[in-house]
Amino acid sequence: MVKNIDSNTEVLAVIGDPVKHSFSPKIQNYFISQHGKNAVYLAFEFRKKDLDGAFEGAKKLGFKGFNVTMPFKEDVFSIVDKLDSNASAVNSVNTIKFDKINNNVSGFNTDLDGFIKSLEEKDFSFKGKTCLIIGAGGSAKSCIYGLLKKNVKKIYVFNRTYKKVSLIKRSFKEFDGNRITAVKDFTDLNMLEGEIDLIINCTPQGMDLDDFKKLMPVPKKWDLGGKYIFEMVYKPVETKFVKKAIREGAVIINGIDMLVNQAAFSFKLWFDIMPDTEKIKEIVLEDIHYKQNSNFKVKK
Ligand code: NAP
Repeated sequence: MVKNIDSNTEVLAVIGDPVKHSFSPKIQNYFISQHGKNAVYLAFEFRKKDLDGAFEGAKKLGFKGFNVTMPFKEDVFSIVDKLDSNASAVNSVNTIKFDKINNNVSGFNTDLDGFIKSLEEKDFSFKGKTCLIIGAGGSAKSCIYGLLKKNVKKIYVFNRTYKKVSLIKRSFKEFDGNRITAVKDFTDLNMLEGEIDLIINCTPQGMDLDDFKKLMPVPKKWDLGGKYIFEMVYKPVETKFVKKAIREGAVIINGIDMLVNQAAFSFKLWFDIMPDTEKIKEIVLEDIHYKQNSNFKVKK
């Protein structure tokens, strides 16, 4: 917890709609306290029409930074003065830095770094690997760009709306995007089992909603043993996909790894310190009330 708020306390926040469920305040305030920074991190929920006003206000009040979540990740493009290469490649900003001295606003995307770090922590070696991404939304785009940059051999992308995959393939053309193969349907997906080293679920399938609970992003009959499984969903932490992966002996990277790692890279942009993430991953895990009957562990 922040102990001594005074007139020098710096203000940071996550902005989005909705944002009440966000773990960012818990994670960032943990980092702030871990490193004894005189800062506080809050959450602000407002409508899209108020986005420009919120930025103007934050600038005038001397805010240090924002995390940006749905549905503003693309909208902030027109507001920032500068964009880092990751944010412009994936068309999405999740971190804002206000530069009070030069009076400008920079946009970054730390999802990408958080994604790569989560894989590196589990010793995934990228070169020559074949990956399968399920989904074609914002997080899928970050993963695809990250994998292209890390020189994987091939990326299959499967999405219920096929057209979106072709658009993604086109958008990454200049980054050696011919390594991306769009998977047309379940028949084609079925045939990939033996070829895939890493499967990443970038859809909400498996989330704790009645419709999704029973769903799995890959065919049930697949044997996940020996593969790497990356689950973006973190509520619940142990989705049906993760349960299957545990049973069959896969290496698992869960949504909390990604959530905390991308937050750590945001903190680094604001404070120039890379915080330790191990303990806060456990705290978030406990917070999600994931405790019972499980052999699931946050650590390697
Ligand atoms: P997004 O941009 O809205 O994309 C959602 C994707 O999921 C789309 O490809 C969509 O397919 C697909 N989808 C949605 N409902 C589906 C269903 N019933 N069956 C099959 N596919 C379905 O969302 P996003 O930002 O990429 O996020 C995706 C998931 O990852 C969310 O659950 C989000 O909470 C999670 N996430 C976690 C982290 C983390 O830090 N752990 C970070 C980012 C995202 P269509 O194209 O057909 O609509």
